[in-house]
Amino acid sequence: MISAIRGTRDILPGEVERWQHLEAIARQVCERYGCAEVRTPVIEREELFEKGTGQATDIVQKEMYSFTDKGGERVTLRPEATPSLVRAYLEHNLEQAMGVPKIYSIGPMFRYERPQKGRYRQFHQLDVEVFGIKDPMVDADVIDLAWRLVQELGIQGVELIINSVGCRRCRPVFNAALLAALGDDLPRLCADCQRRAATNPLRIFDCKVPADQPIIDALPHSADYLCEECRTHFDAVRRHLQTLNIPFRPSHRLVRGLDYYTRTTFEILASSLGAQNALLGGGRYDGLVKELGGPDRVGIGFAAGLERLVLAMPEDAGVPTPLVVFVAAMGDAARDVALVLVRDLRRAGFRAEIDYEGRSIKAQFKRADRLGATHVLVLGDAELADGTVTIKDMRTGQQAPVRRQEVFALLKEAEGAA
Ligand code: AMP
Repeated sequence: MISAIRGTRDILPGEVERWQHLEAIARQVCERYGCAEVRTPVIEREELFEKGTGQATDIVQKEMYSFTDKGGERVTLRPEATPSLVRAYLEHNLEQAMGVPKIYSIGPMFRYERPQKGRYRQFHQLDVEVFGIKDPMVDADVIDLAWRLVQELGIQGVELIINSVGCRRCRPVFNAALLAALGDDLPRLCADCQRRAATNPLRIFDCKVPADQPIIDALPHSADYLCEECRTHFDAVRRHLQTLNIPFRPSHRLVRGLDYYTRTTFEILASSLGAQNALLGGGRYDGLVKELGGPDRVGIGFAAGLERLVLAMPEDAGVPTPLVVFVAAMGDAARDVALVLVRDLRRAGFRAEIDYEGRSIKAQFKRADRLGATHVLVLGDAELADGTVTIKDMRTGQQAPVRRQEVFALLKEAEGAA
């Protein structure tokens, strides 16, 4: 038997309804906030991520599914969506087409990570990006979208954390301050931190190695090294969030794993998730569009992990319409009527099922039970003769004959009551 690849998973009935519910809410929320859907290929040129995600990131250094295709081209299964969306934005001149491009995308991502609960090698993200707006109001609006999404999914125990990682002007000053503060302690940090110190010292704050923490806790905070413009921007983001009544906690350790972030970074954490507790994360990337060969345009966005949202959603989220109707028929003539009845029930919006094989009434009730039917409609000779159907409520065991046309209204009423 051939099994699925480590770190990938099948989403089966029972769970898939939660995904459908999540995707429907995600689309609704994004569209209410004026974002239009864009779908990009899962495969791109390797250099898009080397340049976009950044050479210094764990993703590019260790986690990409890259290979040479049969035409000799280096290609990569996308590890994140932002570079692809920036590419599409530039390639199709979405700025001209959309004015202020606000876009979202949903799909699978691929990273060669060590799998654990909430961390997979193929996983799915909802990605939201807004291009071209410098005003901090857009930062708050994008965070508001993310917050709304989590609220509408009914996820409890969430926390928004925010930070500012500065810009091209003030970041080097902060990085220098970090290295100066580390001083002789640097060789005592883990190998990853040593590498980060050489490539992007800010990312030392990402370190989870327990022995490193006392040293990292004593390091200066980026918020104290922001230039005037970055400080004003960060103040305004916080003010807007307060105006919107969105609770947040500033966290100086929130630097995010990607190279391109500038100024605002944010994450929403869920307490129910354990070690992999980030539901979503994002921030501003004011240099990325230019880095990828475009004009000097700013951007802000976030990516939410769908697996984690599904895990954190309440137990009963996405449970479909409460009624399941089974039509049981006895005899060929009744089977014909039943086929039309089940079609009409489905047209009217009910989940309805029928027995295809002309089995005994007992076998049909057994199947209805397995399907979790709330109602069974029985059609036999007597019912055929007088235009009725016997309706049995499987939850109470009560049954009664009703005229066939009245079944729909009756079920609608039962649906409303459920
Ligand atoms: P990132 O693109 O790394 O900023 O991650 C954004 C969000 O995607 C995270 O908050 C997670 O919810 C999700 N995510 C990232 N990596 C994985 C993974 N390997 N497995 C599942 N979800 C992930």
